[in-house]
Amino acid sequence: MSEAPYREMWENLNMDLPAHDALLEVLGKFYGDIYMSQKGRLQGMEYLDFVLSEVHGLRIKELQDAKAEGRKIVGTFCVFVPEELTLAAEAIHVGLCAGADAGTEQAEKLVPRNTCALIKSFIGFKLAKICPYTESCDLIVGETTCDGKKKAYEAFAEHAPMYIMEVPQQKREADRQLLKAEILRYKDKMEKLTGKTITADSLKKSIKVVNDRRRVLQRLNGLRSANPAPISGRDALLINQVSFYDDPVRFTQSINALCDQMEVRIKAKEGVAPADTPRVLLSGCPMAVPNWKLPYVIESSGAVIVGEESCIGERNTRDLVDESGETLEQMIDALVDRYLRIDCACFTPNDERMDNVTAMAGAQNADGVIQYSLMFCQPYEHEAIKLGKRLDSEEIPSLAIATDYSMEDIEQLKTRVEAFVEILK
Ligand code: SF4
Ligand code: SF4
Repeated sequence: MSEAPYREMWENLNMDLPAHDALLEVLGKFYGDIYMSQKGRLQGMEYLDFVLSEVHGLRIKELQDAKAEGRKIVGTFCVFVPEELTLAAEAIHVGLCAGADAGTEQAEKLVPRNTCALIKSFIGFKLAKICPYTESCDLIVGETTCDGKKKAYEAFAEHAPMYIMEVPQQKREADRQLLKAEILRYKDKMEKLTGKTITADSLKKSIKVVNDRRRVLQRLNGLRSANPAPISGRDALLINQVSFYDDPVRFTQSINALCDQMEVRIKAKEGVAPADTPRVLLSGCPMAVPNWKLPYVIESSGAVIVGEESCIGERNTRDLVDESGETLEQMIDALVDRYLRIDCACFTPNDERMDNVTAMAGAQNADGVIQYSLMFCQPYEHEAIKLGKRLDSEEIPSLAIATDYSMEDIEQLKTRVEAFVEILK
């Protein structure tokens, strides 16, 4: 991770430089061990290596330059926040990562200890002053999805400029109306924040930009159904993670070029692992940067990951917004329709997720599913039981794992995953 040219910028962001140096050092080593040690990587991954090496440098400089030109930065923690409206108001939309243990002790003074690692992480990053994205945000948008997040945002609001969007928990007509009202309220908020009016023209353009990014990720996922697997699961996860904070147009171009390379590899029947390697679908909670522990364990246990059924994966890319609308009203309705299709475990009932996971296992030619939940995540741990039964009934082998961001359970995870991979063989 590069540092020297950016120290002044970090200082201006009021960051804790010694703590931040320590974070970058750990992150650099972790990345080296998990990513750079891989063999047979696609050439296009150099772009992702570069983006990650500059994750706290060049991209933050771009955000600061945009701010100097009067643009606003909006941070989010959930795929429910309609990025199309952020972009239509000429603001920059970034996903705040929350994928590492940091500032946990401070975080536990604001939220109970039995809170999931993701929530503790976003609070910890803020309190420890080590996240330049959080510090760059003019507004952070939370949402009423799980109880843990809802209550944590109350505490977080004492430390950061927050706005809360209500997300329904069912999918009836009344819930559609609620979501529509909330999407309109978010539109107003963006207009007030930026001083720009969102027009049919600006929204049409931003719908296309965000859809194009979803399309390239769909293309990537489609290519992963090939055997041998043309890309590792770790690299594919990294691509999905980077999609949350890179410039969307630049990202789409780079990943399209990478997909071209994958197609060449597929035609040559080449891959990152032999054709008889067990193929695993990963399903469950989102894995934010740098949460690469379980993918590393799976792929160093003789399997290859061929899909991510999560918000940092298929859940965020499966559905496009209908692009045929011409008026603002039609486009807002198209946003509501698309966002209400998200199959987050916060919904009740959420049977479509069971269907989606089963269909995805088939489409990706997966031999088995590893369900991943963060400890204390009620929604996904509950659904793990239900989904496990459904996968049993479809005769798809599955393994449910609940973990956190610490390395304490790594040996135990290896033992369980290796035993599962043996079954798949
Ligand atoms: S799992 Fe649910 S709450 Fe979490 S990011 Fe996805 S949609 Fe949002
Ligand atoms: S992992 Fe679970 S508990 Fe944690 S924020 Fe997401 S839905 Fe909530």
